[in-house]
Amino acid sequence: MTFADTHTHIYLSDFENDREQMIERAVHAGVKACLLPAIDRSEHTNLLNLCQKYPTFCFPMMGLHPCSVKENYKEELNEVYSLLTTRKFYGIGEIGLDFYWDKTFVEEQKEAFFTQLEWASHFKLPVSIHSRNALDDCIQIVKYFPKGTLSGVFHCFAGNERQAKEITEYGFYLGIGGVATYKNAGLDATLKHIAPGFLVLETDAPYLTPVPFRGKRNEPAYLKYVAEKIAMIKNITVEEVAEITTRNAQKIFGI
Ligand SMILES: [Zn+2]
Repeated sequence: MTFADTHTHIYLSDFENDREQMIERAVHAGVKACLLPAIDRSEHTNLLNLCQKYPTFCFPMMGLHPCSVKENYKEELNEVYSLLTTRKFYGIGEIGLDFYWDKTFVEEQKEAFFTQLEWASHFKLPVSIHSRNALDDCIQIVKYFPKGTLSGVFHCFAGNERQAKEITEYGFYLGIGGVATYKNAGLDATLKHIAPGFLVLETDAPYLTPVPFRGKRNEPAYLKYVAEKIAMIKNITVEEVAEITTRNAQKIFGI
């Protein structure tokens, strides 16, 4: 049984004391690949160094996170673009809109998101989309691009059935993580209506830890708890969840 973690930040300092052991635990748990979304310039070196150290396990993405869209976002975007033109990345991410923490830069967030979607279309790279309190806005901006010109994942999907259908009919996938195991999130009701062929697994480590470790640091080895939950909701085996979601991840990101 093999898994792919399609969205994980294991280059962050949260793992600085036990990163090698954490990766060993992931491999032992069947995780074959990790997609690493970027945040901003402060973490690019850490991200790229880790991918260099584990070239068959860690696959880099490049992009500007919506929470890092501030006064200097144009400089940040220039750096993203320059990296995209100089080395291989497996996706553009994480990009999107976040109206939860701070609404000061809403217009700049929209512009940065749109610009990076244009780059994704130009470079034919999949995207990893972050949306918080902004899912319909994200869907609307993505749909400005004709169906088939973009591909990718709505990471940490936590929307309703209508939003899930809109996204999957457009040809995108839903990234499912620890939130699926949270009792009050209501995601299980939505997932009942979505075929596993539209799902990929993710941890978003060190965040969004699944039950039974909720509240602690998350890591890719915990992917199996998400897979078990999906298996329960869809009434299929964990092996089937692993096989389908890993195949989806390979298809989307070309890993
Ligand atoms: Zn993330």
